[in-house]
Amino acid sequence: AGRLNGRRCLVTAAGQGIGRATALMFAREGASVVATDRDAALVASLAGAGITTAALDVMDDAAVARIVAEHGPFDVLFNCAGFVHQNTALTATDAEWDFAFALNVRAMWKCMAAVLPGMIERKRGSIVNMASAASSVKGAPNRFLYGTTKAAVVGMTKAAAADVVAQGIRVNCLCPGTVDTPSLGDRIAANATAAGGLEVARQSFVARQAMGRLATAEEIAALATYLAADESAFVTGQGIVIDGGWTL
Ligand code: NAD
Repeated sequence: AGRLNGRRCLVTAAGQGIGRATALMFAREGASVVATDRDAALVASLAGAGITTAALDVMDDAAVARIVAEHGPFDVLFNCAGFVHQNTALTATDAEWDFAFALNVRAMWKCMAAVLPGMIERKRGSIVNMASAASSVKGAPNRFLYGTTKAAVVGMTKAAAADVVAQGIRVNCLCPGTVDTPSLGDRIAANATAAGGLEVARQSFVARQAMGRLATAEEIAALATYLAADESAFVTGQGIVIDGGWTL
């Protein structure tokens, strides 16, 4: 028997990386998954046993409401969409500030607000938000807006959890270290020239983890699955660090 048998799960940013690995793991655990991404073609390739796919830009409030109206009510929300700016307090722009908060924080709020009425009505639900170890947990160089917004996700998770704990709903967030995903490849490429080559840039990301390696997307998906499932029934309001020893 799967750990998510009979559960309806909404996953954002499921087109690639951690969201994709998690949508697949949820389905393997018996859930019926609505896997969404801004990139319709990317997420369409996930359609299969237990997985329905849909295009969804989480920054579009009306589209978020429509997905929940059409496919809900949901037992699980994995709020995975986010963007990593590389900047400092001196190089960040106003446009980057607005975008980082709109995607990494506001859109997560709107997705939670869309699924919560159905969860409250049925007195059950688990929301898993995507934060990062680079947040209130740890400062990382050149991650000014990223760390700021992901710290906001940790606080938002705790605040939301406090409001719904009496209604049988749990809200937690993931705080991963460096995960091997397509967008990490983009960040490595963007740092290659300054670092003195692609391999040196990659090694600097690898070296952050005391374990001397990157996480796989599946390792993060396993924690999201634990938080989604009943085995974590006594866990709420937490930011769970999964970082290969980056912060040890
Ligand atoms: P990724 O960055 O490689 O892919 C992101 C996906 O999000 C893409 O499929 C993209 O189309 C989608 N997306 C972007 N904007 C969207 C929007 N507005 N609406 C819907 N979908 C959108 O994936 P990843 O590296 O697995 O990152 C996923 C999440 O995990 C992000 O929130 C990221 O901040 C977080 N995270 C990543 C790492 C890492 O090292 N990769 C570490 C900690 C946290």
